[in-house]
Amino acid sequence: MKKIAVIGSGTMGNGIAHVFAQNGFSVSLIDLSEDALQKALATIEKNLDRQIKKELISEKDKNNTLQNITTYTDTKEGVKEVELVVEAATENTDLKLKIFKDLDAICDPNTILASNTSSISITKIAASTSRSEKVIGMHFMNPVPVMKLVEVIRGYNTSDETTSTVMELSKTLGKVPVEVNDYPGFVANRILMPMINEAIYSLFEGVAGVEEIDTVMKLGMAHPMGPLQLADFIGLDVCLSILNVLYEGLGNQKYAPCPLLVNMVQAGHKGVKTGNGFYSWSHGTKDLIVADRFQK
Ligand code: NAD
Repeated sequence: MKKIAVIGSGTMGNGIAHVFAQNGFSVSLIDLSEDALQKALATIEKNLDRQIKKELISEKDKNNTLQNITTYTDTKEGVKEVELVVEAATENTDLKLKIFKDLDAICDPNTILASNTSSISITKIAASTSRSEKVIGMHFMNPVPVMKLVEVIRGYNTSDETTSTVMELSKTLGKVPVEVNDYPGFVANRILMPMINEAIYSLFEGVAGVEEIDTVMKLGMAHPMGPLQLADFIGLDVCLSILNVLYEGLGNQKYAPCPLLVNMVQAGHKGVKTGNGFYSWSHGTKDLIVADRFQK
């Protein structure tokens, strides 16, 4: 495989394009506007500079990586002759179903269509195409150039051939792929989100404060950051929406989102992206300051 396309150049899409391009693939990076694409290229360049500073790559590697990326606002143009498309557009079911239906119509019949979705059923996405055996989940973690894991999600009809191609491909990117089946939340979010929800319940029920909960998990379980801080980084709206997928998809009360989480999202306190969540982020992300509301 030599030529691939990435749909969506946001947080995940630019990271995915970065990693493929760095490993010698010719990458079409596709988004709705020129503005979004220019921002993505600037982010990739900044992240490559960071890798040079850490002596992980050379100036020449940076230039080769950038040369391997071509940007498009026209999807049909961008996916010409590609062997794989990785979709990393906004997390919205209707949008993804439309993107996959369109891709199915315009891509070569042999092209593998992968989605980076965090929570939408791969089987459902695949059903919007006429090639469900060639549709698969390729769930990269954020930040993509740094994180080793790719959760490779087999839809109900995904073939062995597609799965082994994507597993091998992930290894050539220097990643560690893990094969999982397509059930709500896959593995990563099925385990992570209930932990975050339980941390929020512990705060809600007054078991302990924000700092205490995060310190227990950091020092007691050797997690690099506490669950409440992590929730702020992921986005509380994203956490809520994934918990709802688990709750509805598995029909079990244990996944019901904590009412405090629901309230915070409704009030617009979504974590780092809005400047407030369990912590206050208006000063940036360096110092941890518990949000006023949760100060004792
Ligand atoms: P984002 O909002 O940063 O970027 C999404 C991009 O998709 C935007 O630039 C938008 O303009 C573009 N887009 C929307 N519709 C499009 C279309 N029809 N064609 C081309 N581009 C289109 O979102 P993100 O955080 O990068 O998330 C992308 C996907 O990755 C989602 O499915 C999300 O669940 C998943 N994901 C996110 C994370 C994370 O930490 N952010 C981690 C793992 C997986």
